[in-house]
Amino acid sequence: MPTRTKPKGPGIAVPDDLKAKAAEVHERLCREYRCPIPFFHDLDPISELVSSLLSHRTRNADSGRAFKQLRARFPDWAAVRDAPTAEVEAAIAPCTWPEQKAPRIQQILAAITAHHGGNLSLDHLAALSVVEARAWLESLPGIGPKTSAAVLLFSNLRRPALPVDSHHHRVAARLELIPEGVAVGPAHALLEAQLPPDSTAQHVYDNHEILMLHGQQVCFPKNPRCEKCVVLDLCPHGQKEVMKPPRKSAPKKSEENPEAS
Ligand code: SF4
Repeated sequence: MPTRTKPKGPGIAVPDDLKAKAAEVHERLCREYRCPIPFFHDLDPISELVSSLLSHRTRNADSGRAFKQLRARFPDWAAVRDAPTAEVEAAIAPCTWPEQKAPRIQQILAAITAHHGGNLSLDHLAALSVVEARAWLESLPGIGPKTSAAVLLFSNLRRPALPVDSHHHRVAARLELIPEGVAVGPAHALLEAQLPPDSTAQHVYDNHEILMLHGQQVCFPKNPRCEKCVVLDLCPHGQKEVMKPPRKSAPKKSEENPEAS
């Protein structure tokens, strides 16, 4: 498959100093987490879409098991679409909220079929620009920017669209790559616009993975390990964290003041 590069977006202007900072963060975290990072999936786009829907707020092992059971129970995605919902729900029982995810998956598969002239396929997305392909996917019920980007990037389409998960979002916010208070949804366009316009799918994937890994391994929601962080000098939040006085641990029984009780 030829290497696809990211087309210029429809026009979020990014100041040069912010672009330079985003590039520096990318380079340092890439060194830390050893880019290029191998893609974890090579699924067709519909399978990737279903896998992505199953993974919502679910541990990877559980959503993987639900996906395998679904594939084993039904011969193809059309059979999943047309099955009694209770059977789909039973097949995906290992993931969270199977009672909500089963009808949602069926509704989305039916919508793809209806939007695509009776054809249950997403292969036509390969011929669209990333912007057009995202808009097509996001016109389906319940598909937002994270899922549309995941389908385009993680599937064998390998298109340069940036998904932003909660770890990635937290790290970007603390580094002030996005303004305070910007939610995950709108952060997608802002962070994608900071990447070089000719980014390959591998570059975009590395960017997603390194920011996510950093959020999982160093930049924890509570008590981030800022003193060990390779981007501390670029991070206003981290610099405030390291200036805080050390946290006091709870006093042991023997150290408690007997006068206080
Ligand atoms: S310095 Fe601290 S808050 Fe900033 S990115 Fe690193 S771990 Fe996160």
